[in-house]
Amino acid sequence: MIYPTVATTHLGNIRRNLEGVRRRVGDRAVLAAVKANGYGHGAVPVSRLIEREGLADWLGVATMPEALELRQAGIGLPILKLSQALGDEEIEAALRADVTLTVVDGPTIDQVAAAARRRRYEAAVHLKIDTGMRRIGAEPEDAAALALRCDEAGLTLGGVFSHLAVSDVPAGNDFTAEQVARFTRATEEIEAARGPVELRHLAASAGVLAHPEAWFDMVRPGIMIYGSYPDAQTEKTVRLRPGLSWTTVASFVKTVRAGETVGYGRTWTAERDTTIVTLPVGYGDGYSRLLSNRGRVLIGGRSCPIAGRVCMDQTMIDAGPDADVRVGDRVTLLGRDGDEEITALELAELMGTIPYEVTCLVAGRVSRRADD
Ligand SMILES: *Cc1c(COP(=O)(O)O)cnc(C)c1O
Repeated sequence: MIYPTVATTHLGNIRRNLEGVRRRVGDRAVLAAVKANGYGHGAVPVSRLIEREGLADWLGVATMPEALELRQAGIGLPILKLSQALGDEEIEAALRADVTLTVVDGPTIDQVAAAARRRRYEAAVHLKIDTGMRRIGAEPEDAAALALRCDEAGLTLGGVFSHLAVSDVPAGNDFTAEQVARFTRATEEIEAARGPVELRHLAASAGVLAHPEAWFDMVRPGIMIYGSYPDAQTEKTVRLRPGLSWTTVASFVKTVRAGETVGYGRTWTAERDTTIVTLPVGYGDGYSRLLSNRGRVLIGGRSCPIAGRVCMDQTMIDAGPDADVRVGDRVTLLGRDGDEEITALELAELMGTIPYEVTCLVAGRVSRRADD
């Protein structure tokens, strides 16, 4: 290990989380969201696991390079690029790599159809409808006409989908019901106009956990397969296990006297003589500077607070006056050590964000491992 800061992806836990999704949604299809490098867990190892063990039927990405990385790694599962088709280069790359594109309006439909004709490819698309997220998608009342336009342009309309805006919190239930109703109406109009669509899909993790009425033909879990609930308030109807641990080692150990300060800006002052341990990890690794003077790490099963500001490449912690820490000792940033555990949710709450961002932030320079 040339660089001792290591993110370990727990493939066995991800497997069990996906098995939990399958158990919950029965015979519906499952699309596993592996965008953003599998929420920081490694899109290729996670997708290989999924394909090898049949844990999902589809993979979902946000960008074409993400899809191509999976194809280049030999992944053959159907891939849906969840964001809309954008530009001829991307569309041609998608057709070549057999990646299903999302269309949202007349121009995207015509552009994909033209590229498919030029290259003599069969192109399948999914039509995205905006039922209330107000991000991307067709207005529900235009959905049937756009579905017909796909058919007339020679595209295979493999799916119709939308996305829920507040399915993660009980306070959003009325709006979620409204979105489900709009989606139901739009898909009924499409099917009345041109016959059945194979995959109608609406639910992400929060929908899987809390809204069976949103499951339709396929569900699209992301965060839950990596072991976090979308929100602390989301119903915990599937037991989840953490998908990632993050560790480093002690790189420098010293005694700091009462009254001395630690780090940039001198924001932390020793109240007593204590052991300050330096870690070779910082915000350049994705260990957020927002954790300065707030976060904690685990050493030898003990919780130790961060002392001062997180630097780009290093972080100091207060191991206490009686610490017995040596250079090279293992330090846990995220995960379990003895009876103590630091979760992505804990870090997220300290940073004022959500677990999604905590694991996405783990940077490219961090060493990578996977275990079962
Ligand atoms: C990322 C994404 C998902 C997965 O969302 P989670 O909240 O992580 O489960 C599902 N659908 C779409 C369209 C997405 O972009």
